[in-house]
Amino acid sequence: MATGVAGPEIEKLIQLLARLPGLGPRSARRAALHLIKKREALMAPLAGALQVAMDKIEVCKTCGNIDTHNPCTICTDPRRDPSIIVVVADVSDLWALERATATTGRYHVLGATLSPLDGVGPDDLTIDALVTRAHAAEVTEIILALNATVDGQTTAHYITDLLTEAGVKVTRLAHGVPVGGELDYLDEGTLSAAMRQRTLF
Ligand code: ZN
Repeated sequence: MATGVAGPEIEKLIQLLARLPGLGPRSARRAALHLIKKREALMAPLAGALQVAMDKIEVCKTCGNIDTHNPCTICTDPRRDPSIIVVVADVSDLWALERATATTGRYHVLGATLSPLDGVGPDDLTIDALVTRAHAAEVTEIILALNATVDGQTTAHYITDLLTEAGVKVTRLAHGVPVGGELDYLDEGTLSAAMRQRTLF
């Protein structure tokens, strides 16, 4: 951003906003201008919320979720089923499942998926902690909610092997026709997986 039109402080704001996922330099410029125009209504509350997040948000020592409580709200909620642990790669996946109210179980955030090409190995993930949790008496099922990608499925197989001694049921998400999906638009991999994993009507 060498040819900045605003002062250095505003350019700094634009540069920082441009680092956010989904925002390029153009939309960062638009966002900065919007913030400046809505100084009282938006910029001040945003600055306050960022400060609170800086001061209070922690990574849950049990599951790897992020929250202002540690252990997190989900881990300490007595209404959650302690017999189920849903394994996800990232906190964003946990949030997606929570938005869908897809499970009453608790979670385990791996931090990533195994990716030999990117140099991500088992020690980079929280797999040891997951194996320890899986051995707890109350845990009966581990649900692998990992991406339907090569890395996601490699990680699922690796974890499944490690969990054989834990005496738990290991399941994974179904692959198939999306809700509202039209068969004609699906790729061959999804269609054949849906056919293999058909269920009784
Ligand atoms: Zn937690």
